Amino acid sequence: MLESLLIANRGEIACRIARTSRRLGIRTIAVYSQADREALHLASADQAVCIGPAPARESYLNGAAIIRAARAIGAAAIHPGYGFLSENADFAEACLAAGLVFVGPPPAAIRAMGSKSASKDIMRQAGVPLVPGYHGDDRSMAVWAEAADAIGYPVLVKASAGGGGRGMRIVDRPEALGRAVEGARREAMAAFADDSLLLEKYLPRPRHVEAQVFADSHGNVVHLFERDCSIQRRHQKIVEEAPAPGLAPRTRQALVEAGVAAARAIGYVGAGTVEFLVDPAGAFYFIEMNTRLQVEHPVTEFITGRDLVEWQLRVASGERLPVDQAGLTQTGHAIEVRLCAEDPARKFLPQTGVLRHLRYPEASTHVRVDSGVRQGDAIGMHYDPMFAKLIVWDHDRPAALRRLRRALADTQIAGVVTNLGILQAIAGHPAFAAGDVHTHFIEQHTTDLIPTASPAPDRVLALATLYLLAGRSAAARVQAAASPDPYSPWHDVGGWRVNDRGRDPIHLLDGARRVDVGVAYEAPGYRLTLPEGDVVASAEIDRNGDLVADLDGVRLTAAIVSDGAELVLMVDGASHRLTVHDPMAAAAGPEVDSGALTAPMPGKIVKVLVKAGDEVKRGAPLIVLEAMKMEHTINAPADGRVRLVAFAVGDVVEEGVELVAFGDGEAA
Ligand code: ADP
Repeated sequence: MLESLLIANRGEIACRIARTSRRLGIRTIAVYSQADREALHLASADQAVCIGPAPARESYLNGAAIIRAARAIGAAAIHPGYGFLSENADFAEACLAAGLVFVGPPPAAIRAMGSKSASKDIMRQAGVPLVPGYHGDDRSMAVWAEAADAIGYPVLVKASAGGGGRGMRIVDRPEALGRAVEGARREAMAAFADDSLLLEKYLPRPRHVEAQVFADSHGNVVHLFERDCSIQRRHQKIVEEAPAPGLAPRTRQALVEAGVAAARAIGYVGAGTVEFLVDPAGAFYFIEMNTRLQVEHPVTEFITGRDLVEWQLRVASGERLPVDQAGLTQTGHAIEVRLCAEDPARKFLPQTGVLRHLRYPEASTHVRVDSGVRQGDAIGMHYDPMFAKLIVWDHDRPAALRRLRRALADTQIAGVVTNLGILQAIAGHPAFAAGDVHTHFIEQHTTDLIPTASPAPDRVLALATLYLLAGRSAAARVQAAASPDPYSPWHDVGGWRVNDRGRDPIHLLDGARRVDVGVAYEAPGYRLTLPEGDVVASAEIDRNGDLVADLDGVRLTAAIVSDGAELVLMVDGASHRLTVHDPMAAAAGPEVDSGALTAPMPGKIVKVLVKAGDEVKRGAPLIVLEAMKMEHTINAPADGRVRLVAFAVGDVVEEGVELVAFGDGEAA
């Protein structure tokens, strides 16, 4: 087995590879760009080396820098993950030349499959069915027009070196062919520095089904069954599952055997995926082979109980495959969804931002979370918008689908726009439940999957109101604690009051709709007057910082994140955004500025602005506590001297503990 491994990637895949490597006792080395100094994948490895500036070309795509780092640190092998340099034959060759093991196939196999055109010739010879098409070298338009006529419209123009769906054009009539070819050549040249194209019959409603294959350097080749990856946007997968639902056993068998034949035909070694399109009649056609580990490999791991990264590492160190074909079985059903920072309502445009709140479902034998980020991390514009994957498993597809819905409902994200909502909509769609999947699923069901904004339900307005009221009473408690008589009834905001604060309405903006929520004290909480009627409500903040509310006897838990006047409420698996309208109400919200020296709620110290002995003026900020995703500043209650600061940055404190001792007395 290998002694040490450099992982030439980032994000969830780097973390995932590190996990298996560590389990096998292999020393792991992460690489990172200057943009990734704080990234999670660094923490997952034993060591980390910076390989260059943020742009991928200068770091994660900089093969020379990566090999230099591997040699400098004494790594025995390099795992390229997926994307970046994983299918770059020159890089694989350079690794070997530098005396490093490349965890992947031999460069010649990468090269053979690197061109969609050349790979098709190989596949035809191996007897693997191809999509009818033209992939010759002749560039004359007359030849292309003739080929397109022979194939029959619509046809698909594809970049031979393509990937990620780029450079593809659908042509539905002969007159449009010339322009499409010209445009695709330009695009392919810009994206891949290679303008060779091919022509394929455009299948109107295919499924994408792929075979996972594995080979060792002793001539053994097996398949680990198939995956369905038909749910795509921009020709890229976002939901994958295994086994492929509703595929006829004969088709399934023929398809995985074709995958094995493809691997044999090119002397393949390692993990590979042979991709096919399957038409509604069950005929399947080879489209390409990916000579690496796939993003969606965890569904295969779930149904087979095998660790594919472990297999890769064993094969790379010269071992034989641990089992033969007869030794491989599949159990149950697995589904994966890709969480991406992108906006489905704006053509899946990638998004950036800080993950202010991030909560995943609990991992179990049924749920796996492969994440490359943690709460507080920034998602930048330099790399792929996918930041995590959720994978579920159960005994059959309906049960796995239930797990998926549950896992998605338990996922909470605020701060960055993501595709969580559309993944939930897909998981909840009857056509998906029926297994009626194809590559145009998202287009076909757009209206169901990308809902237009609907008014926030009353219970959400109630939760927002309670949150603001909780903040108001926290502020009051703080004032009370700071006052000479903390037990004064004048501090009881909810009850009888001097300025009738208990009845101030809360003004919220729900999109363009303004909602005034009436608030009246009614033990043990409030009577709220909402658009659809009154509810009796009370709430408290639990240890996770969630708001636990009782609305007319119904208990609800919400995670709430505030950002200035904006509130993001995550409840029942849905996310709602509201704006606090009234500046007075906002001021009375949980932003606590008055002078208290105790923690108004459980939280974490994020700033200490003074030290013992400092003389400060009344109102000067002393310490900042983060709680409920908000910052609460503790200010000096009067002019005076700081006696003691009881905590340091990073400390977690309970509600009510004294943070700063203030005023006369002995300095500590
Ligand atoms: P890339 O390498 O850019 O990912 P692929 O050849 O793997 O390109 O195809 C990606 C996706 O594009 C497929 O999963 C499918 O949805 C669509 N596609 C590719 N070829 C065809 C075709 N001939 N007919 C219909 N759809 C196609």
